[in-house]
Amino acid sequence: METLLTFEPEIWRSEAACMRVGVPTDVFFSDHLGDIAEAKRICADCPVMLECLEAAIARHEPWGVWGGQIFRKGKLIANKRRRGRPSKVPRPDEELPVIPVPIHLQSELRSA
Ligand code: SF4
Repeated sequence: METLLTFEPEIWRSEAACMRVGVPTDVFFSDHLGDIAEAKRICADCPVMLECLEAAIARHEPWGVWGGQIFRKGKLIANKRRRGRPSKVPRPDEELPVIPVPIHLQSELRSA
């Protein structure tokens, strides 16, 4: 019997830093700045960050940290801020690593 849908495996996933043993996966889908910062730090060390980001954009990923960037409501957003008044001195664990969006994907970037 022939299936109508074909699944295209993303081979690069086997090299993903987030697939390594012991890496927490919940931080990639959290709304807390400390978790988001941790997810971005993991992505920053990932050898397949570009492939991941391009795939997330192509899928219109609705939520999470993918390819070192933050997705909200299907949009790639520039940054995530804490709710309420910003603190004068940001907590060190909440400082988000800056990972530049590749030039060819910058048109996808939206303001938070
Ligand atoms: S870039 Fe981040 S989310 Fe994407 S595969 Fe690498 S570690 Fe996982």
